[in-house]
Amino acid sequence: QAKSNGRHGLCFFDPSMQAALLAHVKLESDLRQAQASQQWQLYYQPQVDHYGTITGVEALLRWHHPERGMVSPGDFIPLLESNELINDVGEWVLEDACYQLARWAQHPRLSQLTISVNISPLQFRDEQFLARVEGVFARTQAPLQQLKLEVTESLFVEARDDARDKMLALKARGVRFSLDDFGTGYSSLAYLAQLPLDQLKIDQSFVQQVLESQANAAIVESTIVLAESLNLEVIAEGVETKAQQAWLLAHDCHAYQGYLFGRPVTAAAIERLIIGD
Ligand code: C2E
Ligand code: MG
Ligand code: MG
Ligand code: MG
Repeated sequence: QAKSNGRHGLCFFDPSMQAALLAHVKLESDLRQAQASQQWQLYYQPQVDHYGTITGVEALLRWHHPERGMVSPGDFIPLLESNELINDVGEWVLEDACYQLARWAQHPRLSQLTISVNISPLQFRDEQFLARVEGVFARTQAPLQQLKLEVTESLFVEARDDARDKMLALKARGVRFSLDDFGTGYSSLAYLAQLPLDQLKIDQSFVQQVLESQANAAIVESTIVLAESLNLEVIAEGVETKAQQAWLLAHDCHAYQGYLFGRPVTAAAIERLIIGD
């Protein structure tokens, strides 16, 4: 029956719609395949202090698709989040990062590095989350004081007490928390003080416009002051120019991440940056 169907009047014979649907289904089955056949890789982007010394890295997921080449997370994380796969892939990410931390802990020049790992709100809210994380910690024996978990403000929109309880349980193990993309979400100053956070990460959209836009400069400046008064560390992400870094330094922000200091690269490349070859 090539006629519109159901109360939404959807017609399933529109060729462009059908193509989009097939592409979506294909991508989803490719993602399952990626998980089964290890097409994931973690890249690491340097985080530096005001001397330019690398103090840590952020782990960023890459997908080596057999036909399409490298696919960026913006294109597939939302798909992973639309089904249960985010829990398995997120566990793989954490485990790989923790093994990396444990390996670096053996090396005198790398043993102080921190690794920040992005955690999807859906993954964090899952009732198996803490059990999965404990499994990863037991298997990897990573130094947990050097692990930071990056969460976003959307995590605290609903079930805030549950999120807070889980954070407290992980803090008791030494793990630290960073609030990613700060300023882009449902910021409520009231909850910030109640959460066991360690760091605010100023979103790159503000940082990149800091010299061009008065409004963005004001947002960045008050975030730095807020972090200071709540006793939180602050890091700026998306720093691309020396002028942006100079502005940040002049406004008392001493930690940076961005293309100015290095793009996301392999763990081996991070080691070469720090120890040389
Ligand atoms: P994010 O956590 O805010 O990560 C920062 C993103 O900004 C990264 O993009 C990084 O490559 C990019 N970036 C860093 N410095 C600069 C800069 O100076 N200029 C510009 N234009 N961009 C910069 P990427 O790797 O494509 O990741 C995008 C987002 O995907 C991440 O944003 C994060 O939300 C998500 N993501 C990445 N890996 C994971 C993961 O393992 N798990 C989860 N749940 N999400 C992830
Ligand atoms: Mg992040
Ligand atoms: Mg971010
Ligand atoms: Mg972002």
